[in-house]
Amino acid sequence: MDSNEIIKKNNQVAEENLAIKKPEDLENFDNISQGVRVIKEGKIRRIVVDRQACIGARSCVVVAEDMFQMDDEDLAYITDPESYDDEETVKLAAEACPVLAIHLYDEQGNKLFPEE
Ligand code: SF4
Repeated sequence: MDSNEIIKKNNQVAEENLAIKKPEDLENFDNISQGVRVIKEGKIRRIVVDRQACIGARSCVVVAEDMFQMDDEDLAYITDPESYDDEETVKLAAEACPVLAIHLYDEQGNKLFPEE
């Protein structure tokens, strides 16, 4: 599968999961790669990469390469949202992004990061 297909598939899986509430601010993003975490412990249930904000700094890939990769346009996307048992790695990847393009939400759609 190429990056576009992976983005499409993960976005679709996330859209179809009605148990994990859609965040209100999701409408504000034009180009996202998102993934839901169903089987992992912890609070993070949805990860969203705002690809319009991404500047290709690759910090997320360096911190969590099993979850984030770069596409041909040098924009980050989510490969496997269920990778990493510990959500600390996911949080560290989001914190490492210089433009805070990675957004984390809980099951109710509340934003966990970045804090507003
Ligand atoms: S760290 Fe942020 S800016 Fe850098 S590639 Fe990842 S999402 Fe894009």
